[in-house]
Parts: sequence; structure tokens; C-alpha cells
Amino acid sequence: MDSNNDDVEEWISKQGIKTTKEIEVPKLLFNQVIGQEHAGEVIQKAAMQKRHVLLIGEPGTGKSMLAQSMVDFLPKEDLEDVLCFPNPEDSNKPKIKTFPAGKGKEILRQYQIKAEREKKDRSKSLLFIVLSIILLGAILAIYLWVSGNTAVAIEVMFLAVIGAAFLYIIMAMNPAARMERAMVPKLLVGHNPNDKPPFIDSTGAHSGALLGDVRHDPFQSGGLETPAHERVEAGNMQKADKGVLFIDEINLLRPEDQQALLTAMQEKHFSISGQSERSAGAMVQTEPVPCDFVLVAAGNLDAIRNMHPALRSRIRGYGYEVYMNDTMEDSDDNRKKIVQFIAQEIAKDKKIPPFDDGAIIEILKEAQKRGGRKGRLTLRLRELGGLVRVAGDIAVTNKQPIVTADDVNQARNLSKPVEQQIADRAIEVKKLYKMFTGNGSAIGKVNGLAVMGSSDMSDFTGVVMPIVAEVTQAQHPHNGGVYATGKLGEIAKEAVQNVSAVIKKLSGKNVSDVDIHIQFIGTYEGVEGDSASVSIATAVISSLESIPIDQTVAMTGSLSVRGDVLPVGGVTAKVEAAIDTGLAKVIVPASNFNDIILDEAHKGKIQIIGASRIEEVLENALIMGPEKDKFLQKIKDIVNPATDIKKPA
Ligand code: ADP
Repeated sequence: MDSNNDDVEEWISKQGIKTTKEIEVPKLLFNQVIGQEHAGEVIQKAAMQKRHVLLIGEPGTGKSMLAQSMVDFLPKEDLEDVLCFPNPEDSNKPKIKTFPAGKGKEILRQYQIKAEREKKDRSKSLLFIVLSIILLGAILAIYLWVSGNTAVAIEVMFLAVIGAAFLYIIMAMNPAARMERAMVPKLLVGHNPNDKPPFIDSTGAHSGALLGDVRHDPFQSGGLETPAHERVEAGNMQKADKGVLFIDEINLLRPEDQQALLTAMQEKHFSISGQSERSAGAMVQTEPVPCDFVLVAAGNLDAIRNMHPALRSRIRGYGYEVYMNDTMEDSDDNRKKIVQFIAQEIAKDKKIPPFDDGAIIEILKEAQKRGGRKGRLTLRLRELGGLVRVAGDIAVTNKQPIVTADDVNQARNLSKPVEQQIADRAIEVKKLYKMFTGNGSAIGKVNGLAVMGSSDMSDFTGVVMPIVAEVTQAQHPHNGGVYATGKLGEIAKEAVQNVSAVIKKLSGKNVSDVDIHIQFIGTYEGVEGDSASVSIATAVISSLESIPIDQTVAMTGSLSVRGDVLPVGGVTAKVEAAIDTGLAKVIVPASNFNDIILDEAHKGKIQIIGASRIEEVLENALIMGPEKDKFLQKIKDIVNPATDIKKPA
């Protein structure tokens, strides 16, 4: 069932896939989640039994999708509407009542109609009184006018109008008039009778939005205040009653809020009170509001460490913990899933045209490349989805009816991560200042390879990182030191210590007799360098033995104390960086040889050598000459050519 990464073209034509138009997109959200079979199974089970779930994994692997799909499996329960009523005995303790779904709105409407009618009745009688006063005044004024008292008549008329207006204002301000409004309850949570259970995403919500809140009231007395029950707002916890409450980056939730969440999970009820301490809302506390939700908490591994221990133990005790996959096997079935994924993203976007077979091939190759290892496909699908959309947008801009391989390739350049853009810029600058020669030879100088930015496997961006070693006689015999500065300095010191045994064996020299200065040229924060030990050892040996290093060679690898070259991460990105920099040869750990998946633009542009021992690295990096020959001969004599020297196939 295993597929090979070179045969994607062949595979597509064998499948007879021409465009994504023919690919069916599953209706149920659950079936749209790909590559997370285990998590899916757990989610289904958890839903049926209403258990909480902790989903741990890389961003964009489908955690929120899975949480959302859970609502389709929750047991059929009757949703409830929640209404908040004024409490005549204690206005700061509003009453809570629940009704079957859909009823809440109806009841609210009835109260509103009643209040409306009372208001209308009252305005009618008010209008009647006001008009009567004016009418009486007018009759009196006419009488006075007829009997010749014109001045008094005007006065009377004037007084009647003023009096009526005054009366109107007084009556309208009457607190009793406000009572009708005050009697109308507030709908806190409302549904329609056939609604699905709610899915509430509370990621990044502040306390009030999660736990519920009571708004502040600037007019706290004097008949102008808004009644307390009207200021009550449901939080996501209450809105998620009988449904799913999803919180990503759970560790970022304030400890108090995690505590409150825990209480709500235990009690299945939570009163709403004002969240800002000094607001008038803080005095208000409702009766308990139902919040019988299933919690799906998510995050990366870090999240577990910073999560409230009680909350975590609650989930462990009453639910499940799942670690999400970030890659899947590059098999026939899984390739089909990636094709389905492309079709899904197109359907979701609604604006982009279908992908043709060439475009599908490019996305599949990208999925392989981002898989980081041979035989794996990435499951960081949010990012892959981004590439699908950018390619789609390019096709739309060009008014094409279909997305092609060309569009995907352009999109790849457009949607380079920031780290890659920085690396590109750095390469230009370094070339400008001739920081790496890229030709000729130099003693003690190695073109190391590093990755920068995110340390996850999918988004490695490679950079060439020149390393220079200078060896001098130690100022105090047997007391030599390793001098290296910066964050990478620590790694360098450790690397030298680790490889000192190897150096001793190869060069016959004691590291403690010399001072070793190591410098990383033109590095910047964010470069992760623990895979630089092969490069450091090579630079140090070159300097110790005064044998020049070929500057057209770049290398990466981790070195064991015995001199074995151990695998490192991000080899594809590193090899690409060596190619982009114009180097001729790259040395990688033999065990990483098969992890290199180059795209068309990079294929065949560099000689790749897999090394499993430091001697092989030296043989390929040091410049021919009598010194080298003598040195290598010496090594061969010293080193018992162990059985572990393996040449890559
Ligand atoms: P997370 O919650 O793990 O950060 P999301 O579930 O929000 O990731 O995924 C974001 C988007 O990425 C989804 O809307 C979908 O388009 C795509 N996606 C991520 N993971 C998957 C997956 N396993 N299957 C299909 N699509 C996925």
C-alpha cells in the first residue's frame, strides 16, 4: 500500500482523477476531518456519553473541526430557553426560569405585548386628560374673550397649555409608568424548537464573555436606572448548555476562570454576576443558570503544563485526552483524503474554481514535503488550505476556469512564511557582503546549515550559517577553553565538549591544550542550531590540522561522542537553502537521505552526500592535498573502520 513520492503523477493518472469537480465532499462535518481517526473515535465516544475532551496537538490539525462535529453525536436532549425575571423582593437577585426550546421567545413576546398594551392604555388616558385641560381652558378663554376680558382670556389659555404640558411630563416620568417595562423578562438563551445542540467557541473570550456578566449602570437610582435583570448577559458557558463548549489555548485562560469553569462542570449550573468589581453590576447575582455542557479544551503540549491541575484532572477523570496526529502515512487511501481535502476547501471557499490534475499533484507533493519525513503526509491542514486558497485566488484573478500547477507554484512563493522571507533577504545581504565565499577554500570555515523560526517540522526555513573556528595555544596548559558568544555559543560549547573525544581520536590533540574560538557569522535570533555539531567539529579539526575546507560545500548533522553522524530535522529546507545560496555540494546524515523531498525548482541542482561517520564528512569537505591525504590515512589507521559505516543507496 506504500506509495513513493516520485510517483504522484503516475498515481493521479492511475486513479483517473482529472479535476476536483468529480470529488464528492462528505455532508457530515465529522467525515470531513481527515487523518485523525483515533481522535475522531474518541470524540464520537465522548459525545455519546457526554464526556469532556482534551485535544492536544499542533495548530491547524482539526481540533476545532472535531469539537464542532461532536454536536452531531450528542444524545438527543431537549434544549432549554432561559429567561431572566425581576425579583420584586430583591432586585439584585434576578430570578431564572427555563422553558422548552422556542418557548422563551413566545413568552417574552407575550410580556412585551402586555406591556405595550398597558403603555398604550396609559398614553390614551393621559392624552385624554391633557386634551380635557386644554379644552376646558379654551372654553373659559372664549367666555372671557366674549365678555371683553381679552387679556385675561389669553392668560387663561396660556396657563391651560403650560399646565397640560407640565402634567404630561410628570405623568410620563412616573416610576409606575416604568414598571411595565421593568416587568418584561430578558431572554438570556434562546433556541428554535428543532435546533441542533449549540457549539460555542470561547477561545480567547474574556471572563465576562465566558462566565456571563451584568452590565454596568451609570444611573444607579432615581427611577432612571435600568432594572438589574435587564443588564444580565449570558456567557458562553450558559449558551453552551446541552452542547459543546470549545476553548483553544486553554492554558491562556486566567486561573480564576479555569476555576469557575471547573465549578460549572461540577454543578452544571452557574449564577451570573458582574465581572468587573467596581461596577454596579458586581452587586447583582442571578439564581443559578443551567450550563450542562461538554468541554472540549485544546492546545499544544505547552497547554498541559500551564493548565489548572484540577481542571485537567477533572477531564482525565471524567473524559478523554487525545494527542492529534500531525502527519499521516503516504498511502493510497491517505492521498485520496488529501484530494478530498482540496475539494472540501474549494467547496468551503465558494469562490475558487476546481483544481486540475496538475494542481492536485502539486498540492500532494507539498503535503509530502511538509510531512518532513519520507513516506509521510502533513496534517497541518490549515496551512495547506491556505496554499489552496492563494492558488485559487490567482486563478480567479486571471479569470481561469480551473486552477493549474502553475498557480500552485506561484502561490507557494506568495505564501512563504515570514521566516522564509527573512531568510531570502538574509541570503541576499550575505551574498552582498561576501560572508560566504561559495567558492575556493578556507581553513576553519564551514558552511553550516540551520533552520529558523518555528521549530515544528512542517514550516522549516533553511539558512546557510557560516561557522568559523580559530585554534590557538592555550594560555594555561591543560586549561584551554571554548570561546563562543551568544545563544548559539552554549550549543557550540556543548558540541565541542561532545566531540572532544572524536577530535582527540582524529587529530591526536587534546582539546584542553588549546583555546578554541568559534564564531557564527551573520546569525540572528530564531536560528535553531543544535544540528550544527558536525559543522563545528569540522571547522575545529580543519583549524587544528590547518587543512582547508571546500567552500562550495554545506553540511548539517548531529555528532555523537563516538563520531557517528546522527539525523537532524528540516533537511529538505536546509538542502534548499544550500541550493538557493548557489553551493555545489551538501553533506547530510545518511539516515536523513530519504527525508529530502525537493520540488521541481530544486531537483538535481546540487550533489547530496549522505554521511554516517565524521570521517566521511571530512573526506568530502576537506580540500585535496598532501595534508588531507596524510590526515585521512592517519584517521584510517586510528579508526577501526567499524561496521557502522554505511553508504547510502
Ligand atoms: P485547530 O483547531 O487544530 O487549530 P481547525 O480545526 O480550526 O484547527 O482547522 C482549521 C482549518 O484547517 C479547518 O477549517 C480546515 O479547513 C482545515 N483542517 C485542519 N485540520 C483538518 C483535518 N484534519 N481535516 C480536514 N481539514 C482540516
